[in-house]
Amino acid sequence: MGQGITLRRRVLLGAPVVLLLAIFVYVVATPSFTLRTHLPVEALNPLRCTWFCHNHGCPHMAKLPAWLTSDAGLFGQTIKALYGLGASISKTRGIGYGLANLLVYCVLWPTVTYALWTVVVGQGATLRRERAKKGSRP
Ligand SMILES: [Zn+2]
Repeated sequence: MGQGITLRRRVLLGAPVVLLLAIFVYVVATPSFTLRTHLPVEALNPLRCTWFCHNHGCPHMAKLPAWLTSDAGLFGQTIKALYGLGASISKTRGIGYGLANLLVYCVLWPTVTYALWTVVVGQGATLRRERAKKGSRP
């Protein structure tokens, strides 16, 4: 108690944030980076999925099990939930869905992941302190 935050803990807590910002800046600074303003249009390729599958439904045989990839499975339920959340954000379906994606995958998911990381770092510091106490006993 009262030992303050160590340099090791600061580095461990700051590393994900610094790494994320560095990757973001790197990606945005690449010459090929462009902001997408519409869904890409591609032709159907019988050998693999393209944007055609995204935009019109996929006619390919799924390689993963249906409980994961089907409209009734995890994928479909996730999309349905994102549309549901999006409907509460915006009356425009596409905008609401897009904002729901950003909210879930760019705000909530990273926030929860980082919160769990802070717990791990805190528990690691506690374990190190406890081990140091045991090691110092006669
Ligand atoms: Zn496909």
